[in-house]
Amino acid sequence: MTPDLPLETKVVRLRELLSCIERDFAPAAFANSFGAEDMVLTDLIARDFRGIQIFTLDTLRLPKETLALIDLARKKYGFRLATYTPIFEVADDFVKRNGLFSMYESVENRKSCCYIRKVEPLNRALVMKKGWLTGLRREQAPSRNDLGESEFDADHKRTKFNPLIDWTEDDVWAYIRANNVPYNALHDKGYPSLGCEPCTRAVKPGEDPRAGRWWWEQAGAGGQQECGLHVKAVDISKLRSGMKLKVGVSA
Ligand code: SF4
Repeated sequence: MTPDLPLETKVVRLRELLSCIERDFAPAAFANSFGAEDMVLTDLIARDFRGIQIFTLDTLRLPKETLALIDLARKKYGFRLATYTPIFEVADDFVKRNGLFSMYESVENRKSCCYIRKVEPLNRALVMKKGWLTGLRREQAPSRNDLGESEFDADHKRTKFNPLIDWTEDDVWAYIRANNVPYNALHDKGYPSLGCEPCTRAVKPGEDPRAGRWWWEQAGAGGQQECGLHVKAVDISKLRSGMKLKVGVSA
């Protein structure tokens, strides 16, 4: 599929793909961060493809606008949302040793924080799943150029689907407006890409959409301006202090 196909054609293709995932890759789960792309998938999955589970990673550092949207989406669509939080003792220990804003001090700290708050909970969310879905789009970042609509995710050893990979930003917003899909209030304040509150900022018109993520890191100097969900695993035993762990999962 190419990015210049009409939106109607892309929606038909998207519905076919979601139907195939629901049928052939059960149990499959959609990793929902409640950005604009993820709201397109939320709208379709919650209305017509309920066999696909929906989960979110609550890093405990999300902006209040994202939390408000999660609440709104749950009420509008009535779906069951599995919420994965960091292991409290590990996150708490890391903050006690490094501070709440240590991500600004080094790439290593930032990656450790992302690992504790995103990657490890994602690993838990994907246990027993045959496939998982994301709202990634190719044009969002150079690091996403090589992504396909589906691929084998070697890190998690299961199939990963990126059903919106060829969608443009205009496609996403045309779908949202045509279908009255709720979206994050931060998008109207210049935030094209959403994440944790300390690590996300608005961008200027015409600026790279990813420039609002981890902006203090120099690309190529260890920083990737890429989500922690796509970094290689860190040995979590090096990050925690050996306490009895409580795992945060709610639905
Ligand atoms: S995006 Fe920032 S606050 Fe969120 S997990 Fe990564 S470093 Fe931590």
